[in-house]
Amino acid sequence: MTENIRLEIVTPAKKVVSEDVQIVMAPGVLGEFGVLVGHTPFLTALKTGAIIYKDVDGKERYIFVNDGFAEALPDKVTILAESAERRRDIDMSRAEKAKERALKRLEDAEKGDIDFIRAKSALQRAINRINLAQTR
Ligand code: ATP
Repeated sequence: MTENIRLEIVTPAKKVVSEDVQIVMAPGVLGEFGVLVGHTPFLTALKTGAIIYKDVDGKERYIFVNDGFAEALPDKVTILAESAERRRDIDMSRAEKAKERALKRLEDAEKGDIDFIRAKSALQRAINRINLAQTR
């Protein structure tokens, strides 16, 4: 039987995940990584993207994550993120609207502007949410 590891995913607004899992995969800034129980401790920033984990029954679960950090300990992974939600909670039409808004702002803003950088981040969030919601 596989030994489990605790996964906590928290944002300033809510606790998104708090459960025992078999494995966690996450989009580190230096590349994707996986954590099983007994992993060497480390800390990394995350890219906007998807946390994938296997629950205790071996079912894959997907969580959108934006602007986060992960701390891995031998028996626990903690992810602190600006925003995060389960795939089933992604509102597709909201993400589509956010994408349209961001594209419009990108057209209007000058490259290098604060507005341009913010719009690019908003576009990244929207595209990642849409892609994740469409994953089967
Ligand atoms: P929007 O412009 O639609 O608010 P955003 O990318 O600016 O999108 P965030 O700042 O990443 O939103 O998130 C704010 C809060 O709204 C978080 O709690 C996040 O989980 C939630 N959220 C944002 N977009 C969606 C979505 N498409 N579906 C479900 N929850 C969302």
